[in-house]
Amino acid sequence: MAKTESKEKIYHGIGASPGIAIGKVLLIKQHSTSYIKPPDVKITPEEIEAEINKFESALDKTRQDLEELQKRVQNKLQAHEASIFDAHLLIVDDQMLLHEVEDSIRNQLSPAECAFFRIMERYITAISVMQDDYIKERVADIKDVASRVMANLKETSRPVLDYLDDMRIIIAHDLTPSDTVLLDRQKVQAFAIESGSNTSHTAILARSMQIPAVVNIKGNITDEVENGEEIIVDGFIGTIIVCPGDKTREAYKLKAREEGRFYIDLIRESRLRPETLDGFTIQLASNIETLDDIQTAKKYGTSGVGLFRTEYMYMGRQDLPTEEAQVATFTTLIEEMKGEPVVVRTLDIGGDKYCENLSLRQEANPFLGLRAIRLCLQECRDVFRTQLRALLRAGIKGNLKIMLPMVSCVEEVVEVRKIIEELKGELFKEKLPFNRDIEVGVMIETPGAALLADHLAKMVDFFSIGTNDLIQYTIAIDRDNERVSYLYEPTHPAILHLIKKVVDAAKQNRIWVSICGQMAGSPQYVPLLLGMGVHELSMVPMSLGAVRRIIRKLKMHEAEVAAEKALQCSNARDALNISLELLNKISPEVTDLAFRGL
Ligand code: PEP
Ligand code: MG
Repeated sequence: MAKTESKEKIYHGIGASPGIAIGKVLLIKQHSTSYIKPPDVKITPEEIEAEINKFESALDKTRQDLEELQKRVQNKLQAHEASIFDAHLLIVDDQMLLHEVEDSIRNQLSPAECAFFRIMERYITAISVMQDDYIKERVADIKDVASRVMANLKETSRPVLDYLDDMRIIIAHDLTPSDTVLLDRQKVQAFAIESGSNTSHTAILARSMQIPAVVNIKGNITDEVENGEEIIVDGFIGTIIVCPGDKTREAYKLKAREEGRFYIDLIRESRLRPETLDGFTIQLASNIETLDDIQTAKKYGTSGVGLFRTEYMYMGRQDLPTEEAQVATFTTLIEEMKGEPVVVRTLDIGGDKYCENLSLRQEANPFLGLRAIRLCLQECRDVFRTQLRALLRAGIKGNLKIMLPMVSCVEEVVEVRKIIEELKGELFKEKLPFNRDIEVGVMIETPGAALLADHLAKMVDFFSIGTNDLIQYTIAIDRDNERVSYLYEPTHPAILHLIKKVVDAAKQNRIWVSICGQMAGSPQYVPLLLGMGVHELSMVPMSLGAVRRIIRKLKMHEAEVAAEKALQCSNARDALNISLELLNKISPEVTDLAFRGL
């Protein structure tokens, strides 16, 4: 934190989502949490009473939270919706539950969290198998209350950010992807968090939602700012100014107007063909998380959806999306895209994304654990089958493709293909129309998959290179860990060589290859990606304008020479400089795009 002459306090972090916001602080001090299995450990007999007290206090606190929430939403919800909280309160007051947990703490020496989680899981399993739909629906209530109690046991509190009374800028230690996707888009002007990196899913969501954001803030901002204080967040360069002086505020208002005009110019160009000066067209598609992102994608002139991250359909809710609801969502997407391709990625839960309704286990290394396709093939097979059925059914409405995340071996593709064939048989018997020839592709985001590209290319219809994860897994850096983010270099020679290998394998096998990691939407890498021969770049919609402008100034031949040279480099910096040199030659204005934090 740097002090200036006035009361201004300046903090620096990483610009994670471009834009400038000037407003008032909403401070969230605690970490967010979820209903996930705690580690199985034991307490000592001396700790029994303290654990029981902790559990009783957590129940009291949950009761207070629920009553407060009930009051707060009363004006916004219908009476019967607000009465949900009455049902929740009944669970907190259940004496049998209280005694069972106390028993388990006393007799099995379980910490309160473990005892409570185990007993809740037993209740949930018992209720889930009942025939009565009404009773089954109560599972959602139980899980909701359970996650509140767990949060209070961990002495953390769940931020409720989907209903804000006023416009606010959120300052927090962290926001999970599921917190972020629920943010009230009308009221949250920006957010700034102490944790995270530029490629964390929270940052990706901020860009899609067009909420300016800064992550990885240095200093102790959550201890030093207060609710209601005036604050400026500059998501372009990652600066935060608390209590700005008049001059600073005016300068930022001006910057905000200029940046606004710059985006308007880019939107004006959205109908121009993404074609190089020597006549090569690159497909420019969008990465989207929810249907709300479609309009932005269209505004910036997208040619289809290159990545629909379906996991957000499962988050922030207590039940699972039904097959019918998913068919409806995919159909809307297809219709909105009017014949352009729509690539839907199957559920990618795990890593930094959890779902309250899937009862995931806590893992020591979640990014290396049961994530994405592994989870779908192991513990969430039914959920996966439902999603695939919905995709097959919606597939008859247009150009829909299925994409599998985090594939690391050919067996996973074989297994999914088998399931898809079984589901086709099922749908045929049920006389439900579906697309028999639906295209299936894989994301290349593990080094294992990249090195197997020759084999995988013979089994699928397309590749999409997920550089966010490919970089994380190749250079061995947790993409969420701010302490190693300095090593996160997309032009690292190992990354460039893997991309080249994948593109070459795709071309030899005559399949389509796209890049859908954040590298595709970052101007400084565009010459190298084009030069290596990718067909499509898919990115957060607001990056489309800048990337289109660069493509239109480039010659493919020059991009190829630059890529060839970059592939000879022994380090990331030299390779990046080759790309920047070419951009600079095209025009300084284009180089500026690379440094604008876009
Ligand atoms: C990637 O890994 O590059 C990717 C696009 O997927 P996600 O960011 O959702 O993990
Ligand atoms: Mg990924």
